[in-house]
Amino acid sequence: MKIVYSDKHAQHDPQTFIVRGVRQRSAEQPERATRLLAAATNAKHEVIAPKAHGTAPAETVHTPEYIDFLQTAATEWAKLPGASAEVVPNMHPARAHASYPKALAGRAGWHQVDLACPIGPHTWEAALASSESAATAADLVLDGAREAYALCRPPGHHAYADMAGGFCFLNNTAIAAQRLRAAHQRVAILDVDVHHGNGTQGIFYERSDVLTVSIHADPMNYYPYYWGHAHETGAGKGQGFNLNLPQPIGSGDAPWLAAGDSALARIKAFAPTALVVALGLDASESDPLQGLKVTGAGFHAMAGKIAGLGLPTVLVQEGGYLSDDLGQNLVRFLSGFEAGR
Ligand SMILES: [Zn+2]
Repeated sequence: MKIVYSDKHAQHDPQTFIVRGVRQRSAEQPERATRLLAAATNAKHEVIAPKAHGTAPAETVHTPEYIDFLQTAATEWAKLPGASAEVVPNMHPARAHASYPKALAGRAGWHQVDLACPIGPHTWEAALASSESAATAADLVLDGAREAYALCRPPGHHAYADMAGGFCFLNNTAIAAQRLRAAHQRVAILDVDVHHGNGTQGIFYERSDVLTVSIHADPMNYYPYYWGHAHETGAGKGQGFNLNLPQPIGSGDAPWLAAGDSALARIKAFAPTALVVALGLDASESDPLQGLKVTGAGFHAMAGKIAGLGLPTVLVQEGGYLSDDLGQNLVRFLSGFEAGR
């Protein structure tokens, strides 16, 4: 399988992450991509570089003011007296009746939904390259490949049209889906990351041409808390075109794969002609975030089921944090996918 990868991700190494009020190093570290790449290369997958698309793919799902913010925030922040190395907001608007301010501190709070998406000096370059990897993988599929995998870092599925969050800046999965729309009337997204794909859901929530389905740890007790509940089914024209399948914390292979069957049944009923898989590997039993307990065999089996749809598919890397199994879980998923074709 072709793997699209850029080493520009390594320039983004977020230092700020607040857990129960304590500042820690972020779990979203460059080493993640290094391990995923090494495992995929060992498994003889072919690695290619993304094409230079610039901001065009990102502009199809994000607002101009948000892209401008991501592009300029770190430079402007560095000019502020006493500023930290990373852009971290200190207030967030409840957006109802709020106005968009000029001050960078205010814009940061507007565009950064939590404290898990600090913007460093080269975050923009990394996020842009990540989005270009997703766009390039989508182009491979548009050009006739049955599948392609974008090794995206930073990840994207928590990013809304104008909000970063949860380690995510540009929504690579949404960018790939929107790109596939050029040749496909209906595109489905299946998100198997342990966290709900809230940004992706938000981007397509009022649309009926992109079905969003997410299997994740129950947000009643897990990030992103406010989104990912079963009653969120879409709105307006998109009513009925969003399916959330929250799982009890700690669930293992059997319920996770059963949720996969429910997801695939909904996708079949939608009858898409292309698919994007938001491939988080953090549902692993070995993942430090410990939301679900999926095994390597579970990833392999889920991939086989998804491949059985027979759809042109773009696989987009989302979460999955440092553990001894991280690289191997990717390889198990990719081999399961190829076996299921
Ligand atoms: Zn995740």
